[in-house]
Parts: sequence; structure tokens; C-alpha cells
Amino acid sequence: MGCDGGTIPKRHELVKGPKKVEKVDKNAELAAKWKYCALSQEKLRRPIVACELGRLYNKDAVIEYLLDKSAERPNVEVASHIRGIKDVKELNLTDNPEWEGERRNAKGDRYEDMHCSMFICPVVGLEMNGKHKFCYLQTCGCVFSERALREVKTEICHKCGDPFRDEDIVVLNGSKEEQEKLKNTMEERRAKAKTGKKSKKTSGVEALSKHVDSKGSSESKSAPVNEENSSGSSSSDSAPGPSGCSKMVKPSAAVGSKRSIQDMDGKSEAYKSLFTTHSSAKRTKDQISNWVTHTPYHF
Ligand SMILES: [Zn+2]
Repeated sequence: MGCDGGTIPKRHELVKGPKKVEKVDKNAELAAKWKYCALSQEKLRRPIVACELGRLYNKDAVIEYLLDKSAERPNVEVASHIRGIKDVKELNLTDNPEWEGERRNAKGDRYEDMHCSMFICPVVGLEMNGKHKFCYLQTCGCVFSERALREVKTEICHKCGDPFRDEDIVVLNGSKEEQEKLKNTMEERRAKAKTGKKSKKTSGVEALSKHVDSKGSSESKSAPVNEENSSGSSSSDSAPGPSGCSKMVKPSAAVGSKRSIQDMDGKSEAYKSLFTTHSSAKRTKDQISNWVTHTPYHF
């Protein structure tokens, strides 16, 4: 049972030992959390947003995720709790004057200081590199070190003067326990918002919500079909009928409830400007370039 040369394999060549646990440099891992988007893993660059669990993202990565949640991406589970752009807050960060950007080490011949960070605390000047605890305020998005918030007791934001309460403070990239706590408060807040909405919705609005709900409308539409079918043929034959019908009804119901993003009151101007229907995207005739389609025959 040897190899070609008649050698006899030894035990260590045949038996695989226990897998070596890959040791991740704790410092590097921590520093990476503060440098890279939690979703796209790209370098963080403004505009930077944070979720309710205190993770950092590039805003464009979150928007991309929200526009097409079905697309296959690594790391999607990181953002699964983000339902809309309102679930994240754009951060108001303070630039580090020491930060020289990437160009300093463009040739790769210098020691790259892992702990030199892009941002600092505006109150005490600590660097935001993972060594110190940092928090953001959900009210205004300003970011401070925990030390600043602890030492300078205040009820208004140090940077922009907006009032805030203790529960508006969210720890950025916190420990496991802190994240667990944030998750609990997030769930509580969402449950509260849900019950609050329900009590507001009185019977008058209920009819409207039923109409918007595409599933509900498809069911109501399929009901008469079911009756027709059962009168004509046996009930067992009609069973697949309504289910197929409801599938076909669904898209038309969705089209009916579709409306322009520009008309939505709840969306911000910045969000609306992402779409071609926005007024800033309108072009005069000579500004529009000709549409050229390349067919594979040309190459
Ligand atoms: Zn502020």
C-alpha cells in the first residue's frame, strides 16, 4: 500500500490530526471592525452609517442591500435586522488631523500603523481605532468616546447641541454582551412601534390596509373562482385552480399598489434623488446621449 517507489506510508501521513484552530490576531480583528464596512467589507468612507446594534457600514452598501435583498452577497446576515434606510443613522464623525490617508503608504515601504484612525472623539481627542469605547447618539448621529460622555455629564450633544437621553446612546462595535443588550432594546422598541401603529389604525384605515396587502386581495379574488370551479367539477379538481390563480393575480395587485417614490412623504430628499424620477435627474434632449447597444458579434 505504498507509493510508486515502494515506500511504506507512516501513520502521520495517513491519519489527519485535529484541525488547527486558526488564530486571529485580536488587535487586527478589532481594528478591522473600525476600518471596514460590516456589510461590503470595503474600506469605510463617508457617508458612514451605523445600525441599532452599533455596527459600521458604508451608506451605499446598505442602500444597495436594501434595493435588492435577494441578491447573493456574503455577510448578508450582518444586515438582516435592517428593514429600511430609517433603521440606520448617518454618523457625524470628527476627522483625525493626524490621518494622512492611504497615500502615505502608497509604495508599501512604510510601517502601517494599525491604530492610526480616520476619526477621533471631538471632546477628548481619543482615536477611534478599537482601543477605546465609542458611542453614537441615535438622535443626531454624533460620535463620541464613552469617556467623554461619562466624564462630561450633559443632556445636550457636545457637538451639535441636540438634546438626548441616556437610551439614545448606542455603543459602536460593542462586546458580545453589549450587542445582546442592544438587540433586546431594538426588539422592544420595534414591538412598541408596532403596537403604537396598530392602536392608531382605526377601523377606517383597516379597510385600506387590507386593500394594500396583496396576499389578502389575491385571496379575496380567488374565492369566486373557487365557487365557479366547484359548481362545474368535483371539489378535488378545483383545488389546484385557485392556488394557480392567486399566483397570477399577485403581480397585477402589486402593480396596482405601485406608486412613484417621489410622491412618498416618508422618504427623504436624498433618498428620492437616488432614482431617475427625481427632478435632478431630468435631462434636456441634447443632454441625453444616444443609447448604443453592443452585440457580441462585434467582438
Ligand atoms: Zn449631535
